[in-house]
Formats: sequence, structure tokens, C-alpha cells
Amino acid sequence: MSRHEDQAIVSVNAKTVIDSLEFARQGRKLDGRVAVAQLERLADLLANQAGSLVFELLGERDAEGNNCLRLRVAGSLNLRCQRCLSPLPYAVDIDSRLMLVAPGGEWPDEELADDGTDAIEASRELAVLPLVEEEVLLDVPVVPRHEICGLPAATETEHRPSPFAVLAKLKNH
Ligand SMILES: [Zn+2]
Repeated sequence: MSRHEDQAIVSVNAKTVIDSLEFARQGRKLDGRVAVAQLERLADLLANQAGSLVFELLGERDAEGNNCLRLRVAGSLNLRCQRCLSPLPYAVDIDSRLMLVAPGGEWPDEELADDGTDAIEASRELAVLPLVEEEVLLDVPVVPRHEICGLPAATETEHRPSPFAVLAKLKNH
């Protein structure tokens, strides 16, 4: 996303909706921003709710002429490590395509899932925030963990001198 486009970023809330099929047919575009704190279903996985994610929603047609939404989401989250419970920074970088299925229409078979395409039911009032939230939920690790836990946490170093400081003192004598 370029700097120029950044100026058009709008904050979305629970009421932000699009007419999904029209959005796709007309090749429309929505640049948005959501605060991490708005993603309530994600809250249990997070160490804190700081920051925000930016996204870009594009209406398009795939090679077979199906109406699709392309959703890109970027930003960072502080997941909670399930082993040591301290924050685990996680970079969100999603680029997914959602095929719109008209209500009562035919759902694609499961082969679609292999190329990163999901199908969702088209709606004249498709809520944008849950869509972004769903994609983020699918993207984050199910059990987030540090590769190596136990890097010094702020609270510990306050009370205990680091082994390196102790070593440095010994060397000076
Ligand atoms: Zn950890």
C-alpha cells in the first residue's frame, strides 16, 4: 500500500458493510484500519490489545468469472505465548481471496481450499469487520509459542542482577 493510498484509509466499525456482489462487479476498493481491541474473538490469544491492523478489500472476478473479494491484512499482534505467557510479537501478512456465493447458489467443492480461496455467502450488507477478524483468526497459530522461551522478562531483571553483570564485577576485582 503506497503512502498516497494511506490517506484514504478509513476506520471501520461493527456497522461498516458492503454490498458484496456490487463491490466485486464494480471492482471497488476499500482501504481500512481496525484497532486490535475491536477484534473481540481474538482477545483470548493476545497478551495485549495494542495497535491496529490495516487492510485492503478489493472487488474482482477470478478467471472463471466468479465474483470475489480479495482481502489483504497487515500489521502486528502481541500474541500470548502458551508456554511462558509473555507477549509474542506476530506479524500479520494476509492475502486471501473469498469467492462470493449468491444466496441459494451452488457452493464450490472443497478443492478450492487448496489454492487459498474460501467461499462465503454474498450479502447486500456484508459486515467488513467480522470478515477481517475471521481471516486474522485463521492466520494466527493455534498454539502460539516462542521458539525459545525465557528471554529475560522485565520484572525478573529488576529484582535479579543479570549473570553478565555479576561476571563483569568479578572480572574487575
Ligand atoms: Zn514463551
